[in-house]
Amino acid sequence: MHFPFCRRKCTYCVLHSRAGVSQADRDAYAQQLAQRIVATEGAAPFKTIYFGGGSPGLCDLTPFGAILEPLRTEDTEFTVELNPLDVTHEKLQELKDIGVNRISMGVQSLDDDILRLMGRGYTFAEAEKAFARIKEHFENAGIDLIVGYPGETSALTPRHARLAKWGLKHCSVYSLILEEGSILAHQIKRTKTALPDDDTVLNRLAVIARFMKDIGLERYEISNYAVPGYECRHNLATWRGEDYLGLGDGACGRIGLTRTRNFGGQTPEVETLSAGKDEVERRIFSLRTREGLNPFGHPDWLPILDRFASEGLLTKINANASLGPTYRLTERGTEVCDTILAELD
Ligand code: SF4
Repeated sequence: MHFPFCRRKCTYCVLHSRAGVSQADRDAYAQQLAQRIVATEGAAPFKTIYFGGGSPGLCDLTPFGAILEPLRTEDTEFTVELNPLDVTHEKLQELKDIGVNRISMGVQSLDDDILRLMGRGYTFAEAEKAFARIKEHFENAGIDLIVGYPGETSALTPRHARLAKWGLKHCSVYSLILEEGSILAHQIKRTKTALPDDDTVLNRLAVIARFMKDIGLERYEISNYAVPGYECRHNLATWRGEDYLGLGDGACGRIGLTRTRNFGGQTPEVETLSAGKDEVERRIFSLRTREGLNPFGHPDWLPILDRFASEGLLTKINANASLGPTYRLTERGTEVCDTILAELD
């Protein structure tokens, strides 16, 4: 479920979201979105529910409680993304009341100067307090971080050590992507600021990966770390190629051979894939995960994967006699996963 509202636009972001929408309009949107679930045939029960954005915390989410209640089970993972500025005890209680059991908070940086440059509108101390508040209500909670913002001088700061005490169950760590049309892209063009080069960013990501392991979070996907047992089931289902319903302004969905994208209109764009393209799309992203890619049924992939294995970018595991080998990214391989996927596609 996508909630396309933000307090203001972060400098690096080109996600589909708007600032300056009134509370009444945001709540009306949430109400309509909840009704769309009712109208969606064959939607239940959900294995996972994910409210992202944008900032879902800017909307009154209470209409979802009664509507989702019969559509989930005790085992359903129900995640809401929160901005630290939206974390109040009242909001957290509202989320508990509608059945949410997992929170993902976008922190992005632990450095106050970088947070200011990003336009995030809070300090590290405020983010730390917000996360502590979340942990009073939700055991299963994690954060997102961005590496490589201009002005960042090192991968780790003394503040990272404090993360060990936060009780994080999950952490997503993304490298900054300079998006055409973002505020940051304009700033860089105007001021001729240099971005950290690729090697610097890769080194920082490797340092962060070791740090995450030290604080008990295992890497289970290129950009994602979790305490074992707390891997995000919603993310895993996506990389494993499962179906998902995408509702709301800015949401994408994948049901059978059909892909939907909804960018601002009432009627989503619909694309129908061939069975072959659908199968490839669903299969290849498992390479991003620790589970790895089994190329069963794709003999054409074997020489490509063997070549990357011989270059030390993949590990070949001969675990299953009937399905053949599975290939998993090595640490160096995580840095070039997109190149490998492009050869398979
Ligand atoms: S990064 Fe998140 S909070 Fe910032 S503008 Fe984008 S969607 Fe909104």
